[in-house]
Amino acid sequence: MPDVDPLVNELRAIVGNDYVIHLPEDLIVFEYDGSVDKAMPSAVVLPGSTAEVSEVVSAASRAGVPIVARGAGTGLSGGAVAEQGGLVVALTRMKRILEIDPADHLAVVEPGVVNLDISTAAAEYGLYFAPDPSSQRACTIGGNVAENSGGPHCLAYGVTTNHVLGMEVVLADGSIAWLGGRTRETPGYDLRGIVIGSEGTLAIATKIVVRLLKQPEAVKTLLAVFKEMDQASSAVSGIIAAGIVPAAIEMMDHFCIEAVEPAVNAGYPKGAGAVLLVEVDGLSEAVEEEASEIERVCRSYDPMEIRAAVDEEERARLWAGRKGVLGALGRLAPNYYLVDGTIPRTRLMEVLARITEIGDKYGLPIANLLHAGDGNLHPSVLFDERDPDQLRRTMEAGAEILELCVEAGGVLSGEHGIGLEKQEYMPLMFNDEDMAAMAKLAPAFGSRGRFNPGKIFPTGKTRAPIPHAGAVARTGAGAFI
Ligand SMILES: Cc1cc2nc3c(=O)[nH]c(=O)nc-3n(C[C@H](O)[C@H](O)[C@H](O)COP(=O)(O)OP(=O)(O)OC[C@H]3O[C@@H](n4cnc5c(N)ncnc54)[C@H](O)[C@@H]3O)c2cc1C
Repeated sequence: MPDVDPLVNELRAIVGNDYVIHLPEDLIVFEYDGSVDKAMPSAVVLPGSTAEVSEVVSAASRAGVPIVARGAGTGLSGGAVAEQGGLVVALTRMKRILEIDPADHLAVVEPGVVNLDISTAAAEYGLYFAPDPSSQRACTIGGNVAENSGGPHCLAYGVTTNHVLGMEVVLADGSIAWLGGRTRETPGYDLRGIVIGSEGTLAIATKIVVRLLKQPEAVKTLLAVFKEMDQASSAVSGIIAAGIVPAAIEMMDHFCIEAVEPAVNAGYPKGAGAVLLVEVDGLSEAVEEEASEIERVCRSYDPMEIRAAVDEEERARLWAGRKGVLGALGRLAPNYYLVDGTIPRTRLMEVLARITEIGDKYGLPIANLLHAGDGNLHPSVLFDERDPDQLRRTMEAGAEILELCVEAGGVLSGEHGIGLEKQEYMPLMFNDEDMAAMAKLAPAFGSRGRFNPGKIFPTGKTRAPIPHAGAVARTGAGAFI
């Protein structure tokens, strides 16, 4: 654990006494994110401006103390956990929307701005920010950039990288640089694209220029209810095969329905094996056409029910169900371990059946929540961390699910990143040469060993079981994030 005591006074001089945290009892709240890993940082600093971030980073670099950037701490792969101790730079004070440019359809924001606040502010101009992680009421744009986050509506609109034009960053020596700009094309290497998704290992984002889209003229949200998951999976493939790319296709299984319905009253019927939430948006006529085509496809898989939200209130309720599932899983078990893998969507049926078998093998229920349209699975293993054997089985089940995703032609992470959680599984997808090539980026950015050390790349340690796992349904039943 690096000694930060000499650094603390220097940090206080930069940001003020109130914004440096170093007593163990105060640091506890920074020891975890939304994932399974925990570690106590040596100190936390909350800068209020780019200049302060730059000074903090320079001071920490001079002292040889590693830095972990942190947004809201909703990450699900341990990215914001200071596993090697060191200084956490929490960016939540930097939460100003600096500019909304309705003519150029863009906004300039600080990294601690909460995702949903961008769309709320842009609504006045008939605009919105498309990437909408289910945590959008809490997570920050800085965290979204670092994880290249997705969300239900990323099926049609693309993920964070497709909506960030440029950003100001602080590099590991404290220097400030701009990557990209205010237009979609910039000359030279796409360094912006490299930093997006780099999980806080290359630079700290201090200002972000995001694209804003025009709010659609019409939106239609359909709920399709099926007796079995297989029928819902086939309907997803059927919709895409029909040449339709809806704004969102989300799937939830019977565990999710059982957990969320009493908490949110979303209107998901009891006794259903799976529900699909399908949303289409655009020009009114096209929306009506696509919605009836989707309905036609779903009908061919013998649904129990299909209905469209009749008004904005019902639509909001249907989405509240989807976005409340993770919090509500706390009703079924004290803990969940959410696995994030992506597979070709044509293999949904087969992979979901194998996941059920994995649950049976380890004697643990697995709730399935999917961004189904892009094949992004979120199997959530339900367990009780107080039972060490359940914890061991949970981690082993998670490992088997990830292996299964890769074996099915998919990838290790759909949107939550590698962090600490999946670093030991990187060899499932990449050989040593691949990883050595990727590892050259940190020294090229001057950040090796400085920003978020020990993340993404394998360290050779055994992954399962993890002591002190805390994949708790921390959001609590009924939470809406
Ligand atoms: C209930 C729930 C639902 C979720 N749903 C989704 C979803 O639908 N889609 C999805 O993609 N994710 C989802 N997530 C995961 C998580 O919300 C996202 O990864 C989010 O982008 C993390 O943002 P944060 O502000 O909480 O970042 P943190 O957890 O604080 O940090 C995440 C990573 O970003 C780095 N970082 C943070 N700020 C900066 C910065 N300014 N510069 C450089 N690096 C930085 C950190 O070092 C860390 O590596 C969900 C999480 C929860 C708990």
